[in-house]
Amino acid sequence: MNLRNVYTTFPGGKHKVLTLSYDDGKIADRRLVALFNEYGLKGTFNVNSGLECKEFSKPYEERIPLSEYKELYKGHEVACHTVMHPTIARCPKEQMVLQVIEDRRKLEEALGVTVRGLAYPNGSFSDNVVDALKACGIRHARTVFSTLGFGMPEDYLRWNPTCSHKSESLLKLSEDFLNLHKTQYLYMMYVWGHSYEFEIDNNWNVIEDFAKKMGGKDDIWYATNIEIVDYLDAADRLQVSVNADFAYNPSAMSVWIEVDKKHIECKPGVITSF
Ligand SMILES: [Zn+2]
Repeated sequence: MNLRNVYTTFPGGKHKVLTLSYDDGKIADRRLVALFNEYGLKGTFNVNSGLECKEFSKPYEERIPLSEYKELYKGHEVACHTVMHPTIARCPKEQMVLQVIEDRRKLEEALGVTVRGLAYPNGSFSDNVVDALKACGIRHARTVFSTLGFGMPEDYLRWNPTCSHKSESLLKLSEDFLNLHKTQYLYMMYVWGHSYEFEIDNNWNVIEDFAKKMGGKDDIWYATNIEIVDYLDAADRLQVSVNADFAYNPSAMSVWIEVDKKHIECKPGVITSF
């Protein structure tokens, strides 16, 4: 028999995804979300549900109230950053679990959707923390270790980003990502940071230039962290025939594959022939 080349692709047959991740939910997120919306970028915002009334000494330290999350972060992902932002690997295990699950509960109450992501506060995690996240139904968690690369993560609960927006390599990495045209692999660019850093460093131009440069590209999928996880989970469940002439998609979302360089949309709940 003649074997066919069958590959998993991102939606629309794309093979590159750009995702962003911003922490702490301070008021500069308002300006950042507006910028992302203008250029069609998608982000995951990791917030602390227990710090909104905390006193602050500088204006940029003010936090966005929970009541504003649903409207402000529409189209993006809101994820946990624990209730109070402790260095969780140092916490007694009951407290560590409570910091995660109570954050998730409060965010779900505010948003009306399930919350299944997290960024490690102060970058702190351990094998015990990862085990606890699994029990709390958390599907992805971001570290602060930059890979300076575009590989897909091997473990969503130890998800290493490409770089922080503070990295001196940001511009070079952005250009490299735009110029990636080989399609043998799926590629991800993942940038993280804190929106208030643009206030402190007085350099909003860094992220404005980035958004202008990276937005609106036909070959890039713009996705939140959980959209990537959910899509690849669905792609994993796709049942492709041995002859590669049809596939059944048991998930509730479309999954795209490439068969002999042709992009095929496998619609949810049906068999697609190709
Ligand atoms: Zn933080």
